[in-house]
Amino acid sequence: MDHFDQIVVGGGLAGSVLVYQLTQQGQHVCWIHTGQEKSSTVVAAGLINPLVFRYLTSVWKANKLLPEAVNFYQSIEEISQRSFLHPITIAKVFGDQDEALWRQKMKKPEITQWIDSIGKVPDNDLLIQPFGAGFVQGYWLDTVVFLEEINKIVADKVVTLSDRFYLDDLHLMSDGVTYKNRFHANKIIFCEGWQAVINPFFNFVPFRPVKGELLTIIIENLNSNYLLVKDVFLLPLGKNIFRLGSTYDWDDLSDEPTEKARAHLLDKLYSFLKVKVEVIDHQAGVRPAIADRRSVAGLHPDYPQLAIFNGLGARGVMIAPWLGKQFVEHLLFQKSLDEKIDLNRVVKK
Ligand SMILES: Cc1cc2nc3c(=O)[nH]c(=O)nc-3n(C[C@H](O)[C@H](O)[C@H](O)COP(=O)(O)OP(=O)(O)OC[C@H]3O[C@@H](n4cnc5c(N)ncnc54)[C@H](O)[C@@H]3O)c2cc1C
Repeated sequence: MDHFDQIVVGGGLAGSVLVYQLTQQGQHVCWIHTGQEKSSTVVAAGLINPLVFRYLTSVWKANKLLPEAVNFYQSIEEISQRSFLHPITIAKVFGDQDEALWRQKMKKPEITQWIDSIGKVPDNDLLIQPFGAGFVQGYWLDTVVFLEEINKIVADKVVTLSDRFYLDDLHLMSDGVTYKNRFHANKIIFCEGWQAVINPFFNFVPFRPVKGELLTIIIENLNSNYLLVKDVFLLPLGKNIFRLGSTYDWDDLSDEPTEKARAHLLDKLYSFLKVKVEVIDHQAGVRPAIADRRSVAGLHPDYPQLAIFNGLGARGVMIAPWLGKQFVEHLLFQKSLDEKIDLNRVVKK
């Protein structure tokens, strides 16, 4: 039987960040995942925005999460010598009430720190912007390239099982777990994304998965370097190619793209841009969100050989590196988890 410190299940953003951080601590890891099949991470636009535009508030812990995320992704860029974290100026195109709200909220330092300026998006005759726009510095992570690079970096440090994980093959022991009678580990950590809803060990976690859809489009006559946001976002990828997203659907949790979402996204786009588009791709995924909109990490209350690292929700790219660090320190050095992300908060006592 091969012995490991940890078995990690799932190869999306959660599993990848965690496996990397565990190997950084010298942990011997067995990683069970099925590669880059359709997952929330592969579909995601990868945007990092420190503000919640709907209420013009700061994202929870943005002051901590943003620098940790940028440092983390840039350190992986350095190792892999590939670029996948792209700085971008976000232009929130204002509706008629927005400018007043922004000017009022800009009196608060925790909001002002994120806002570059208010004005018009320059050199863009196709944009309908009678009320102007607010500018914020953000990033977008090319999640597919990131996953590729993490996989390469850890390849010779972990044992990878390119397969689905089957619960029937897991046995709980007094000193850990065994899997398929071949692997023994002190703990198994589930990073299954929204599919965790069918994991019977963690069925007490109030998951509230939400499907999202995105279009990849060509707009021949639009040259924009801004990430334009108004109800939907338009992310420039270069060469007149853009990603247009995204939708939120709590009822249909299939990962199939729908006509309804395509029409919705295009309608919203045409409300602020006078353009013709050609749709070249349409993707759907399901975000692993939790009812209280916080992530979840921790050991099972009755079976401490089992752990969960999940609930990255709609802003996983920004939160994952900080969350992973919290969880690794908890796992290896018994440091307390932030109570807002601690699994304990959802355990029924
Ligand atoms: C349309 C859309 C747009 C988004 N845009 C953004 C954005 O702009 N910014 C942002 O920060 N976030 C965004 N997100 C959210 C982001 O994708 C998630 O926060 C994050 O990627 C979730 O990562 P995860 O690893 O928890 O889940 P996933 O990426 O879903 O990964 C879970 C993995 O576990 C695997 N798995 C599950 N069960 C098993 C099993 N039994 N055996 C083996 N493998 C298993 C799954 O196959 C999957 O590969 C978006 C999501 C969607 C759908």
